Amino acid sequence: MTATADALESANDTTTSARTAPLPEVEPEPSGGGERLLIGVFVAVPLLALAAAIPVAWGWGLGWHDVVIGLVFYVISGMGISMGFHRHFTHNSFKANKPLRIAMAIAGSLAVEGPVLVWAADHRRHHKYSDREGDPHSPWRFGSDVRALTKGFLYAHIGWLFNPDRTSQQKFVPDLLADRPIRRISGLFELWVAVSLLAPALIGGLWSMSLTGALTAFFWASLIRICLLHHVTWSINSVCHTFGNEDFQARDKSRNVAWLAIPSFGESWHNLHHADPTCARHGALKGQIDISARVIRWAELASWAWDVRWPDENRLSGRLTGLRGRQLGSMTKGRLARPEKPAAEAARL
Ligand SMILES: [Zn+2]
Ligand SMILES: [Zn+2]
Repeated sequence: MTATADALESANDTTTSARTAPLPEVEPEPSGGGERLLIGVFVAVPLLALAAAIPVAWGWGLGWHDVVIGLVFYVISGMGISMGFHRHFTHNSFKANKPLRIAMAIAGSLAVEGPVLVWAADHRRHHKYSDREGDPHSPWRFGSDVRALTKGFLYAHIGWLFNPDRTSQQKFVPDLLADRPIRRISGLFELWVAVSLLAPALIGGLWSMSLTGALTAFFWASLIRICLLHHVTWSINSVCHTFGNEDFQARDKSRNVAWLAIPSFGESWHNLHHADPTCARHGALKGQIDISARVIRWAELASWAWDVRWPDENRLSGRLTGLRGRQLGSMTKGRLARPEKPAAEAARL
């Protein structure tokens, strides 16, 4: 955006604020030092655990029980973030029945990336300002030379978590605040953290009927799994705003990154996501694997989800960059076999 356009927009903001006094973007009370120390513990402990894991992996401490439990928890919590926190709660890219909403809110909380209200508020603020001043985690915030970008990359990956500014929930997620069950699940975040840490250990212990089984499951399926998913999610903020392909025109520096598509459940098709934020399928082009979109489609077929905003050829084809003859994939509006909004589900709302 040009300086003139920025000036115009800020002038408009000023006029609006004088007229309607909008809510502040960040809460008047910053987060406390203790809270930031806790975030530090959650960032550092899993990383140290990962470093220690390498020699352990060659020894006695890793069994297929740990791999299975870790994978299952990775998929549940990762899908909770991608399909739940991001596509459903933040962007309303599909509607879901109450049990599915509750399941997605709990599953996403198991990722230990903050309560759903905080996550969604930060992320809506990210979209409002993407890569401009006000974006909570842009790699471009310090400038575009190598030094500034390295600093910005680390900030977008981890550093922003330590910024004491708390995104205003009144301003950014009033819809979620008004939803009692979701507000309750958000308020019980410590409980979900405890479940996420202890359930794998309990399952591992019972499965092998040994304390060693509990300890190795805790190490691999709790600490390492949380650490890996954290880095995958944070990579969407850092890697996917710095490197990759610009398949679609977006007003920011979001990019599509193929190698992260599977571990992120489709989140790394981040350029399409910024070009069309409410679209339920981020890997909209043919061949772009998007596991979350596939699961949303299954939920739609089971009538648990409806009003799914599938990619719209008319809207997207004009935004494709280059003349590479790229085509949209099968889960595109108008190409799906069943009606997109079952009447019975709509009436149940
Ligand atoms: Zn982004
Ligand atoms: Zn988003």
